[in-house]
Amino acid sequence: MELKGLTFSYDGRIDQLKQVEDRIPTGQITTIIGPNGSGKSTLLGVMARNLSPREGEAVLDGKAIIAYAPKELARKLAVVHQHNDAPPDLTVQRLVAYGRLPHRRMWSQQSEEDEAAIQWALESTRLLDKRESRLCTLSGGERQRAWIAMALAQRTKLLFLDEPTTFLDMYHQIELLELIRHLNEEHGITIVMVLHDINQALRYSHHLIVMKEGEARLSGAPREVITSAALADIYGVKAVLREDDQAGLVVLPLGTAEAAHM
Ligand code: ADP
Ligand code: MG
Repeated sequence: MELKGLTFSYDGRIDQLKQVEDRIPTGQITTIIGPNGSGKSTLLGVMARNLSPREGEAVLDGKAIIAYAPKELARKLAVVHQHNDAPPDLTVQRLVAYGRLPHRRMWSQQSEEDEAAIQWALESTRLLDKRESRLCTLSGGERQRAWIAMALAQRTKLLFLDEPTTFLDMYHQIELLELIRHLNEEHGITIVMVLHDINQALRYSHHLIVMKEGEARLSGAPREVITSAALADIYGVKAVLREDDQAGLVVLPLGTAEAAHM
């Protein structure tokens, strides 16, 4: 997907996205990072056509996303939002089946292809034995995987995830990132996700976009983008970077940049 001069405003006065230009590499994992309120979710919203840009366009497979019919776009890209709402007594299986709607004609019965996609989505997210469970009985990690399963049932080549690890403990964060990596490596799904943890962003992405005040300030290979100077500039944090044999490049925050000056 190509992002061409994306400018977006919620109220028509202040631009929450300013001329964002980038190219999302196909078959890779792109992570959007940046401080709270820097425009990460807004950018993802414009890329998923939930929000319409005031200027510019997002182009997918050579065609502006605004030119796609809704179902056609839903067969190309799936989104897992940060906050997801569903009736608490919905079962996992029913939720995941909603992912098939873009592939079905009105009133049509569930086809074998639908069944296979649902089965694959439940298997990939290791939720087969939870298929009859109601959403309200799931743990946080399972619930997040159920939403990912619904997106997977759409069978798209592009998957967007807004802060998929927020609210999960360390084990479940890593488990989820491993699932995302698996989907990318084994199934060739192009991933665009928002993360807060810089070390996770370094570890699990091929491409980084760093947002600040609505601008894509930096973009490129994680190891090139993440420097002490960038962390000070973007987050106001003083940090050192260390190379570890097993973990690769790791960021160690020392304090806020203000404190370092005191
Ligand atoms: P991030 O995801 O990086 O935390 P957002 O994209 O949610 O940031 O928000 C970017 C800016 O847009 C912020 O200043 C935020 O207050 C504003 N904003 C977000 N959503 C809305 C909305 N629905 N209406 C008006 N302003 C919004
Ligand atoms: Mg956000």
